[in-house]
Order: sequence, then C-alpha cells, then structure tokens
Amino acid sequence: MTFSSDAIVLKITKTGESDRLLTLLTRDRGIMKAFAKAADRPKNKLHMSTNLFCYGRFTFYEGVKSTKVEECDLNETFYNLQSDIGKLALAQYFNELMIETAPVETDANEYLRLLLNTLYFLANDKKNPRFLKSLFEMRLSSMIGYMPSLVGCKECGEFETDPMFFNTESGELFCNFCKGTGTKMFSLDTVTSMRHIVFSDFEKLYSLSADEKTLDSLETVTEKYLLNAIKRNFRTLDFYKTIK
Ligand SMILES: [Zn+2]
Repeated sequence: MTFSSDAIVLKITKTGESDRLLTLLTRDRGIMKAFAKAADRPKNKLHMSTNLFCYGRFTFYEGVKSTKVEECDLNETFYNLQSDIGKLALAQYFNELMIETAPVETDANEYLRLLLNTLYFLANDKKNPRFLKSLFEMRLSSMIGYMPSLVGCKECGEFETDPMFFNTESGELFCNFCKGTGTKMFSLDTVTSMRHIVFSDFEKLYSLSADEKTLDSLETVTEKYLLNAIKRNFRTLDFYKTIK
C-alpha cells in the first residue's frame, strides 16, 4: 500500500551497500522510519531529496516488514544550516528532541510546524539562535504535557512583580513576596518572555524579541525545565555547547 505525507528527514543511518534508513517526522503519522533504497548512490533519484533536513511531499510504500520511500517532491532543504557548525548542531538537537517527543502513528502537524518554522528562522538568520533554542524548548515542554504554571503566583495569584521566582522542577511561579521553595529569581522580562512562548498563538510566537540579558536567563530556565521533564540528556546538545 502506498501513502503520501509531508515530512522532514530527522536522521539518516546508512545501511547495506548504499541504502539509507531515514527517521522522519511526518505530518500525518508522526515519527516514522523508512528505507530509501540505493539513495546513497549519487545518481539515484532519492539521493538529493533524502538528506538531513530535506522537507517535502514523500510517497511511501508500506511492505509487510518495512516501509520504503518511493519518491519525494522536495520543497525545502534548509541548505544554509550547513554553512555554520553552531547552527547545524542546534538544528540536530531540535531533530533529536523531535525523535524523542513527537507522537507515532498519529497527526503531528503541531510538531512539524514548530520544527519547520524554527529551522527557517535559524537557517536564514532571522532570529538569534539562542532565542530560537529557548523558544523551541519551552514551547515543546508545553506541547508534551509539561506546561509551566505561569498564569500567576502559585501562592497568592499575583500576576506580576519584578523580579519573580520560578521552580524549574515543578514549573511553578511565585511573586517577589511569596518566593516559594527551591526557586530561582528571574526578571519580569524573562517571565514575560516565557509567558509569550507558552501562551501565544502560533502565528505570533516568533514575533517576540528579547535583549541579551533576558536571553541569558531564558537559556538557563528553558533547557533545564525541558530536560527535567524528558529525563534524559542529548548528545547533540552537549556538542552544541562545546562549540558555542
Ligand atoms: Zn505571591
């Protein structure tokens, strides 16, 4: 049986003499694995369209034992990511996060949209990579069921004080008077940025801008919060940090 879906290549494992085993994020069926037969040969029709970050309309053939890529109508390659090792490492971290958290055998439009847009802004220098990393981490945390409680102070309900206090394990927010336990202090600007990332409509998600100081503290909170929720480390993230 054949079926088609928009999809992006998240990971490639070379197999056999010239085959590629692809891990893809598909719009209609979430994370999927599929073989691209002979795609490692330069003259093969799948050679150019099954590289890392290739996005397009994929047609698959589902066999009894495995799924194969029949063809791909290429839409975007995010080629500019290759020009900068820092951007490339960050993009691979995003891919790895998707493999870990995106659903399987079900609609994954929300995940694909977040990844495609973030890669677009990253590849084309439209936004600070550090900002994109924080945005991706915090929005993804919310999508996978770990939305932090940012509406107001956990204790008294106060909407905003400057600074505020946030617990990166529980995701609870406290005002300047209640403070909470196990919390760290964050500027109101940082909390406002976190609120934007978590609550804004997708259409407005990338419109936020943050100064360097806010980025510094955003960075400490979003990564910690997500990794706490997922409970694992990422090789690609470690690598990104070594070259940053
Ligand atoms: Zn309070």
